[in-house]
Amino acid sequence: MERRAQGRRRMDAGVPARRRREMAAATSGAGRCRLSKVGAGRRPPPARVRVAVRLRPFVDGAAGENDTPCVRGLDSCSLEIANWRNHQETLKYQFDAFYGERSSQQDIYAGSVQPILRHLLEGQNASVLAYGPTGAGKTHTMLGSPEQPGVIPRALMDLLQLTREESAEGRPWALSVTMSYLEIYQEKVLDLLEPSSGDLVIREDCRGNILIPGLTQKPITSFADFERHFLPASRNRTVGATRLNQRSSRSHAVLLVKVDQRERLAPFRQREGKLYLIDLAGSEDNRRTGNKGLRLKESGAINTSLFVLGKVVDALNQGLPRVPYRDSKLTRLLQDSLGGSAHSILIANIAPERRFYLDTVSALNFAARSKEVINRPFTNESLQLHVLAPIKLSKKELLGPSEAKRARGPEEEETGSPEPPAAPSSASQKLSPLQKLNSMDPAMVERLLSLDRLLGSQGSQGTPLLSTPRRERMVLMKTVEAKDLEIERLKMKQKELEAKVLAQEAADPKEKENYSPTMLRPLARRTVTVAKPLKKAVVMPLQLIQEQAAYPNAEIHILKKKGRKRKLESLDASEPEEKGEDCWELQISPELLAHGRQKILDLLNEGSARDLRSLQRIGQKKAQLIVGWRELHGPFSQVEDLERVEGISGKQMESFLKANILGLAAGQRCGPS
Ligand code: ADP
Ligand code: MG
Repeated sequence: MERRAQGRRRMDAGVPARRRREMAAATSGAGRCRLSKVGAGRRPPPARVRVAVRLRPFVDGAAGENDTPCVRGLDSCSLEIANWRNHQETLKYQFDAFYGERSSQQDIYAGSVQPILRHLLEGQNASVLAYGPTGAGKTHTMLGSPEQPGVIPRALMDLLQLTREESAEGRPWALSVTMSYLEIYQEKVLDLLEPSSGDLVIREDCRGNILIPGLTQKPITSFADFERHFLPASRNRTVGATRLNQRSSRSHAVLLVKVDQRERLAPFRQREGKLYLIDLAGSEDNRRTGNKGLRLKESGAINTSLFVLGKVVDALNQGLPRVPYRDSKLTRLLQDSLGGSAHSILIANIAPERRFYLDTVSALNFAARSKEVINRPFTNESLQLHVLAPIKLSKKELLGPSEAKRARGPEEEETGSPEPPAAPSSASQKLSPLQKLNSMDPAMVERLLSLDRLLGSQGSQGTPLLSTPRRERMVLMKTVEAKDLEIERLKMKQKELEAKVLAQEAADPKEKENYSPTMLRPLARRTVTVAKPLKKAVVMPLQLIQEQAAYPNAEIHILKKKGRKRKLESLDASEPEEKGEDCWELQISPELLAHGRQKILDLLNEGSARDLRSLQRIGQKKAQLIVGWRELHGPFSQVEDLERVEGISGKQMESFLKANILGLAAGQRCGPS
């Protein structure tokens, strides 16, 4: 008992208490992960990476004559392994599930994989990774054999069944499934469905989704479809295996299954769930295998990927700011699945034989670390801009697979559905009653949708707008277009009026006094440029604009540019400027100027570093310098003393004054301050 407790303490020792509490609080079952509300802006609930360990039985021929078991299961979650440092002790590990030598393929599938599949239909991602040394049973677990099918065929069978049910006539969503199959071999991403494609790149889109442009995607509607693509592709890999001496255990095989959902009625949401089924390369320590030449190079690449995988897991556990996903292809691809948006399960495969001992311990340690990683799965949902798509799907469903295939044409069948969805084909345009909508500006579609919602909220009976008969829809669309035209016409009229006001004001400046104060008027006494826009943007304080409206006689000239060819003229034209200096200068009434200066001085003498940062051109560093100077030398007697602060030059002081004085002067007059 005591030893067992020691073992547990050792296992927990590396995990900080806060982390352990977090882990305890985090859900311990995929079933407790709630579907996040799309667009609610809340952080998705956590879902810990689930870890299962599978111990394979002794395999004929694999064990030497004298090989004895060194691992054994304790219960459905824990196991123990001999401690090579102390033969009197064993090391104990606890996981989400432990599957012993007698466990069947169905046990593993039903216990650990099947429960996460439903998340795909909620538009969330899921992934299953088989980890462990070569010969420990990863491929057996993932692929299995015709007599004992593994996780992949079982998951595909169930998923296709689920999508068929969910997609049935009358259900709100139309679902489609596609598959891609790739291999990461020596840090190259190879398309197993199209081996001639060469090394593919992994990219991240603006929403943080990982994707591989150019990767073949085959639509599948039945298990026979899946086998038709998967089996030859697996042979691509197996051919390599014989030729390159067990290449298959030296590459990571990744099957990607995407479930695409499109809502049949408004608001025509679209969801995508990705399932990764990954048979990782062997995790054995290649330093012990005595590999040379190509094998050594392969080992290096494998070690890089798996080594980075370990680093990623560690970085996530320690909450480091940088997680090195990009350091290997495998981790980049798994970015979604580890510490990302997926429901993930890691199946660590181990072998009982003593000769596997060190690799088994290291696989168990990796699995124990992975258990601490927390993902935050969320629903990938968006609005369909191409609202044609659901109709296209329904059409396909109506026709049945073979007729749909004919309607689609051979090209699409070969290349699979590209991403993002392509523009509608001419064939489907002919078929679709919504063709007009599809060719419309997305903004217009958005407006139609809001109109649709509005009609719904006002109790308008009948089908939603986008499902209304064509003739009625055309009438409604015409109304929307007419309204748009009307808005455009009004906008133009407003512009014309504004231009007219400006022209009048230029002709007779006095007349502007008669304008209604509520009218949006051009800035009073504004200096205007005749030529191009000014190089520097001038932001005028809002209070000042209001101030000018309220005190039309206030003597404020905003800014004046001097000594340039593009000469500025005051509308008052009372004081033509002569200086040829190429700089900006303020022209403010002396009274306002004094207010502004006093306000700045007060701030300099009384303000905290934080208050000082509210001033223009004063950042954290300068604010601290000012406060420090004040503490050493006492209060500033005038704002120009700023120049005496070490680190603030005379030029900086001047530009500081120019930037601040006007705003503060205006604030003094208008606001309560
Ligand atoms: P890996 O992919 O990890 O290199 P394999 O899946 O190829 O290992 O398994 C190695 C051998 O062990 C294969 O002959 C496989 O059939 C057998 N094997 C693995 N796991 C089991 C199991 N649970 N039951 C029976 N045989 C197994
Ligand atoms: Mg294998």
